[in-house]
Amino acid sequence: MSFIHTRSEQLYTEALEHIVGGVNSPSRSFKAVGGGAPVFMKRAQGAYFYDVDDNRYIDYLCAYGPIITGHAHPHITSAITRAAENGTLYGAPTELEIILARKLKAAIPSLDKVRFVNSGTEAVMTTIRVARAYTGRNKIIKFAGCYHGHSDLVLVAAGSGPSTLGIPDSAGIPPSIAQEVITVPFNDLDGLKQALERWGDEIAAVMVEPIVGNFGMVMPAPGFLEGLCKMTRDAGALVIYDEVITGFRFHYGLAQTYDVFPDKAAIEPDLTALGKIIGGGLPIGAYGGRKEIMEQVAPLGPAYQAGTMAGNPISISSGIACLEVLEQPGVYETMDALAATLAGAIKESADRHGVPLTVNRIRGSFSTHFCSHPVTNYDEAQDTDGEQFARFFRLMLEQGICLAPSKYEAWFLTTAHTEADIAETIEAAEIAFKAMAR
Ligand code: PMP
Repeated sequence: MSFIHTRSEQLYTEALEHIVGGVNSPSRSFKAVGGGAPVFMKRAQGAYFYDVDDNRYIDYLCAYGPIITGHAHPHITSAITRAAENGTLYGAPTELEIILARKLKAAIPSLDKVRFVNSGTEAVMTTIRVARAYTGRNKIIKFAGCYHGHSDLVLVAAGSGPSTLGIPDSAGIPPSIAQEVITVPFNDLDGLKQALERWGDEIAAVMVEPIVGNFGMVMPAPGFLEGLCKMTRDAGALVIYDEVITGFRFHYGLAQTYDVFPDKAAIEPDLTALGKIIGGGLPIGAYGGRKEIMEQVAPLGPAYQAGTMAGNPISISSGIACLEVLEQPGVYETMDALAATLAGAIKESADRHGVPLTVNRIRGSFSTHFCSHPVTNYDEAQDTDGEQFARFFRLMLEQGICLAPSKYEAWFLTTAHTEADIAETIEAAEIAFKAMAR
C-alpha cells in the first residue's frame, strides 16, 4: 500500500507562498523527518484523520496532546455548538468559568484559585511572572529538554556543564533574559542542589514538567520530585509544575495527584500551569495555585495579566464537556490497556527484527526512542537515531498510521481508539521494522 499525497503537495507549495514555512507551528513541518510536504488534513472523526487526498490515518499525534476523547466527540461537539449559538465572546464573566474552575479545583487540591488564559505558553509565562512578583526575585531554574511554550524565559537552553546560566534557544531573545534562567538536567538532584547553592537567594521558582512529555515520556526518578520540592522551598523559591501535557492525561487528575507518587504532600507545587486537554481541543490555558500567591494577580495584586479571549464561552464549554467524558468510570483503564498492548507489541516486534528501541509508557501514552539505552533525561533522548525514527515515521504514515513528525514526541491514545485500531497499528509496525531490519 502506498498513499498518494498529490493534493497535500499542491497545498504545501501554495502554503509556502503565504504562510511562513507553510505551517502555523514549526512542529507541524516535516523538517525533522526528511522534509517535504506535511500531510494536509481535511477532517477528523474519532481515532481517524482524513487527508486532502482522502487517505485515512489512525491518529496517535492527537494534536500534541489535547485530543483525548477522539476527534469530534459528540458530547463535546454539541457543547461547542450550544455555546456558539449563545454568542462567542462577551468580555464579561460567565457562570461557565466557575463550573470549569470548580471541576479543576475538585481534581487538584493545590489549586485554591485559578485563572483561565488561551494557551499553555501564556499559562506558563504568567506563573513565572507571579512567582517573581511573590518572591521579589528574578531567576528561574528549569530542566534541559522540558518545553514550556515559546515565551522568552523558557526558550532557553543549557550552557555547557551541568548547571549553568542559560543561553537563548532562539534568535530574538536578549542574552540579559537568558541570564535569568538556569538549566539543569532532569532527574539530577545534585545539579539542582548545585544551582540552588550558587544562585539560591536569586531564584524565584523552579519550573518542571513533573512527568516529562517533551523528550518522550519520562518519569521522574523515585524521590526526584520530593527532593526538588524540598530543596526549592528551603531556598525560599516556589515550585511550578507545568502540567500542560500531563493534566488529565494519565488519570482524572494531574501528575501531582497521580497514585504512583505515594506522598502527595511532599510533591505538591505552589503554582501549576495547565492547557491542552482542559479545553477539549479548543484553545485554552489555565494557571493556579495557593491563594496568597494567586492574589498577586490583578485586579487583586500588582502582577498584571489579562486576555480578550480568556475564558471565552466556547473553549470553556468544550473543556467542561471533555472533563465530563473523562470522569466516566473505566475511561483511563481502557486507554491504559490498549496502550500496554500496543507499546508491548511494538517493542517485541522491534526486538525480533533487531531494531534497537526503548519504549517509555505511562498509561495511555508512550514514546519510542531508537536506541538501546534507557531514556531518563534529555541527553539520553537526544542520543537516539533520528534517521531510524524518520524511516519508521514514513513507513507508518504510508500505512495509514499518523505519528508526530519528531523523535521527541509521544504517542497518545484516546477513548476512541479500538482494539481493531491497535491490531492494525501493530501490523503496520511489524512491516515497518521488517523493512528497517534489511
Ligand atoms: N508546556 C508544555 C509541557 C507543553 O507541552 C506545551 C506545548 N506542547 C506548552 C507548555 C505550550 O502550550 P501551547 O502550545 O498551548 O502554548
